[in-house]
Amino acid sequence: MIIVMKHNATQGEVAQVIAQVETLGLQARPIIGEERTVVAVVGDERPVEPEQFELFAGVERVMRVLHPFKLASRDFHPEDLVVKINGVSVGSSQVIVMAGPCSVESREQLMETAAAVKEAGGHILRGGAFKPRTSPYVFQGLGLKGLELLREARDAYQLPIITEVLSPQDVYLVAQYTDIIQVGARNMQNFALLQTVGETNKPVLLKRGMMSTVEELLMAAEYVLSHGNSRVMLCERGIRTFETSTRNTFDINAIPVLKSLTHLPVIADPSHGTGKWELVTPIARAAVAAGADGVIVEVHCDPAHALSDGAQSLKPEKFAAMVSEVRCIAEAMKRTV
Ligand code: PEP
Ligand code: MN
Repeated sequence: MIIVMKHNATQGEVAQVIAQVETLGLQARPIIGEERTVVAVVGDERPVEPEQFELFAGVERVMRVLHPFKLASRDFHPEDLVVKINGVSVGSSQVIVMAGPCSVESREQLMETAAAVKEAGGHILRGGAFKPRTSPYVFQGLGLKGLELLREARDAYQLPIITEVLSPQDVYLVAQYTDIIQVGARNMQNFALLQTVGETNKPVLLKRGMMSTVEELLMAAEYVLSHGNSRVMLCERGIRTFETSTRNTFDINAIPVLKSLTHLPVIADPSHGTGKWELVTPIARAAVAAGADGVIVEVHCDPAHALSDGAQSLKPEKFAAMVSEVRCIAEAMKRTV
């Protein structure tokens, strides 16, 4: 339920509404907008009659939110959320490019890639230190060493960084190093992990599970939001279908669907979405044309010898070409890169 206060409602009137919501055993989240305050009511509100709140002083109207996700819903937050990360604004008119290796492999590899990302106009450096691998016998990531190298590259190239966390017990360690915490597709419904990242103050990139619906993605975001972290970005990274010509099927529909249902920024990952480097640039262009707020792509200087995801990694020169093509599309959409 959303309680929309009148534009001249006093703080005392808002406080009375919040007190009544809490008396009913529900939680109240005031969202203070430029024009007016809106009180989001969270919890099992089925027994509550909206009309009872309409009688309170300062209340303009009360609306039920029909979606099962509440804090993630655009009904609660009509304007786009802009997530600010050290001078980079995700969800603004600028389309953000996040790029870097699938895995951090060594200092030389990361520094060389970071230089290429910066040079081509990328805004955020990605790199996995804790890797969710299908096989336990392959490279699992450098762990803490990888986080230290990411931090070094961040400082050397002045690029905010994003890296994945796999387990709740590593969340605070990863949060000490990174600017954005990534929750990967395989962990989209790891509720203990979602709760723990929800308790940090770091922006979160939540990737869609490969077998999850858009609504399940939004419900996963709801876990993070309801634990107090409002800076969530969503990522479409392809889903499993019967199609075998690509690693995953990039669900372009999800971008405008998400943009209409939620205020959270939407990022496209054409690398995992296709699994083939040749397809990364066309799908990055399509995603930006469909309204994505950014792309996250894998870049490697020597993809043939990459320790993970070489087949979908762009070499630096191909990445630079992708950035300029994405810029053309962004400009056609009245945005920048
Ligand atoms: C990754 O970003 O390298 C990754 C493992 O992504 P996903 O969780 O989308 O598979
Ligand atoms: Mn990868």
